[in-house]
Amino acid sequence: MQTILTGIRANEEPTLGNFLGAYLPTIRLAKEHAADSHINMFIPDLHSFTTPIDHSKLYSQIIKGVKYYLAAGLDATQPNIHIYRQSRVSAHSEMCWILDCFTYFGEASRMTQFKEKSAEHADAITVGLFNYPVLMAADILLYDAKYIPLGEDQFQHLELARNIAIRMNNKFDQALFTIPAPEKEQIKFMHLEQGLRIRSLTEPSKKMSKSSENAKSKISLNDDPAQAAKKIMSATTDSVGVIKFDMVNQPGISNLLQIEALLNDRPLQDLIADWAGQSSYGDLKRKVADSVQSFLSLFQEKVSQITDAEVEAILKQGESYANHAANQKLHHVQRALGLRPSDSQTSPTQPEH
Ligand code: ATP
Ligand code: MG
Repeated sequence: MQTILTGIRANEEPTLGNFLGAYLPTIRLAKEHAADSHINMFIPDLHSFTTPIDHSKLYSQIIKGVKYYLAAGLDATQPNIHIYRQSRVSAHSEMCWILDCFTYFGEASRMTQFKEKSAEHADAITVGLFNYPVLMAADILLYDAKYIPLGEDQFQHLELARNIAIRMNNKFDQALFTIPAPEKEQIKFMHLEQGLRIRSLTEPSKKMSKSSENAKSKISLNDDPAQAAKKIMSATTDSVGVIKFDMVNQPGISNLLQIEALLNDRPLQDLIADWAGQSSYGDLKRKVADSVQSFLSLFQEKVSQITDAEVEAILKQGESYANHAANQKLHHVQRALGLRPSDSQTSPTQPEH
C-alpha cells in the first residue's frame, strides 16, 4: 500500500500559507485515498528548533498542531490515517545519521532554504539547520512515502531525498527505499497546475512564512478574525490599477486571487475570469477579507472543541503504528549496511540481537 506523508513544523503559529499549501492538499488526498493508502500526517517536532524558539511554548504548540490537523478535516478514526510526533519515533533520528553518511556536503550546501535562513539568523547558524533536509529525507524514506503534499518552497528538499534514496538503492538494494515521486508528478497528484506559494502580505515577492517577525506579513491560524481581515485590507498591491493574475508584475493582487479561490474551493481560472478587467483593488480586498474572516472563525471554533485527551489517544495509536513501520524499515537498512546480519547470515538457532 502506498504512503502519502506530510508534516508542519511546530516552531511558530502556522499560517494561511501552511494551511493552503500543506494542510488542505493532504486532507483532500486523505479523503480520496484513505482506503488505498496510508496517510501519515505527523508533527516534525525535532525540526522545530533548527532556528531559535521559545521552548516554554513548544509542547503546547505540538498538541495544538494535532488539533489543527483534526480541525482542518483529517479523520483520525480511519484506520489508515496516522498522526504522530517525530520525536516519539526514535528511528527518525537513527535513520538521519545513516542518511547523513550518504549525503554529500556539496549537495547539502546547495539548499537555498539554508542559505536564506542562515542569512536571517546569522548569529545562530547551527548544524541542525544545515542538516534538517536530511532529517526530512529520513521522515519520508522511513515510511516508503511516494507522495508528499507540500508547498513549492520544499521541492528542493524533496529532490535531495530522492537523490539520497536513488544513491543508496544503487549501492545496496533496489528495494531499500521507495523513491518519492518527482516534482511534476507530485503536483499532478495534488490536482494542481503548479506548486503553491502563498505570498507575504507586505512583501508579495516573498512567500508567507510562519517564522516571519512581521505579524502584518502573515495570517496566523490563531489571529483574531477581524484583525486578520484588516491585514488583508492593508496588503501591499501595486500601481497597475487593473485586476489581473500575474505573479511577476502583480504578485500582491495575484496572491489575493489565489487565496480567494482556495478558501472557496473554486478553480483559480474562474476567479480570474470573475475579476478580469475590474479596477477596484478595494472590492477584491473586501471579498478576500470576508473569506479569511469567516474561514478563521469557523476553524478556531472547531479547534476549541477538540480536547487534549482526544489528542493523546490519537497520538498513542499513531505512534504505535509509526514505531512499528519505521523500525521495520530501519532494520532492513541496518541489515543492508552490515549493522545487522543479513537474512542468510542469521541461523535459526541464533536469534538476531
Ligand atoms: P518557517 O518560516 O518556520 O520555515 P513555513 O511557513 O515555511 O515556516 P514549514 O513548517 O517550513 O512552514 O513548512 C510546512 C509546510 O507548509 C511545507 O509543506 C511548506 O511547503 C508549506 N508552506 C510553507 N509556506 C508556504 C506558503 N507560503 N505557501 C504554500 N505552502 C507553504
Ligand atoms: Mg519553511
